Amino acid sequence: MKVLANDGISDSGIKALERGGFEVITTKVAQEQVESFVNTNNIDVVLVRSATKVRKDIIDNCPSLKIIGRGGVGMDNIDVEYARSNGLHVINTPASSSESVAELVFAHLFTGVRFLHDSNRNMPLEGDTNFNGLKKAYANGIELRGKTIGIIGFGRIGQAVAKIALGLGMKVIASDKYVNEAIIKVDFYNGQFINVDIVSESMEDLLKHSDFITIHVPAQESGYIIGKDEFKQMKDNAGIINTARGGVIDEVALIEALDEGKLLFAGLDVFENEPKPAMQLLMHPKISLTPHIGAATDEAQDRIGTELAEQIISILKNK
Ligand code: NAD
Repeated sequence: MKVLANDGISDSGIKALERGGFEVITTKVAQEQVESFVNTNNIDVVLVRSATKVRKDIIDNCPSLKIIGRGGVGMDNIDVEYARSNGLHVINTPASSSESVAELVFAHLFTGVRFLHDSNRNMPLEGDTNFNGLKKAYANGIELRGKTIGIIGFGRIGQAVAKIALGLGMKVIASDKYVNEAIIKVDFYNGQFINVDIVSESMEDLLKHSDFITIHVPAQESGYIIGKDEFKQMKDNAGIINTARGGVIDEVALIEALDEGKLLFAGLDVFENEPKPAMQLLMHPKISLTPHIGAATDEAQDRIGTELAEQIISILKNK
């Protein structure tokens, strides 16, 4: 049986699938050629991350297909219900990348509070001619310890963010449509741990009291989670991070809030118009940028690859 891993898969995932008797093809097939590639090669399983889309046309026109697998969480690039109603299995690995995304949130936060995003742009240009000027420009850093982080969406990643924040000595406010309360286990390298109970609060309270806000909701059917009104309700000089999905923050309102001096900085891993984010975002001196790499750590990719392999083997081999 054949697996097309169109957006890549870890070596550990390939090895696990090969041990299970599958042939793994890692050729990157262009979106418009996926359908004919699957049919020509009699592919049983298509694995994607966020780049390749598996829509109704592929599902309708590829009879050899039995499983669509998403390495990671959000499945907005797959017509999940349609596939399932047509007898296909749709699988993902929801928990495998939570810690990686949570760490990226703090990479952006530490960057933002010490202006590393701007400093990294200007040091190569002026570091030798204007060292003292730059030193002054980036002098008013702030510490994360003792500050309040507001976490919108308190699921797997939101709770992984809370763990790191608590470890850093931050106050955590969470707001979630469905999760009312969570016990966050902060564990240490030596086996010790503490449990911290966090009760979900209203969005209004979160916006009003947070020094930094980070968003961890899935792609929304409609409307922004953070738009003009929400920016207005935030503290002055707040920082905001989006590693969830483009479209949860109104990017035009974000730029306005940054330009007006309402926000100190933003950190973005995801964009409304991927893979061509708006130039105003890419060029903005107050935005720390990454190209949708939340789950892209070796550890997460290993977990994703082996988890997908286990699920595929159990579905197709244990029938
Ligand atoms: P999850 O399902 O565990 O948690 C999402 C939480 O958001 C849920 O608790 C849900 O109740 C809550 N929610 C949904 N709509 C809401 C709303 N309007 N207001 C408040 N809360 C709301 O998902 P997760 O594993 O934590 O992942 C969250 C999102 O992160 C994913 O859907 C995906 O879009 C994104 N993600 C990004 C990357 C990346 O590479 N940057 C990697 C993995 C996941």
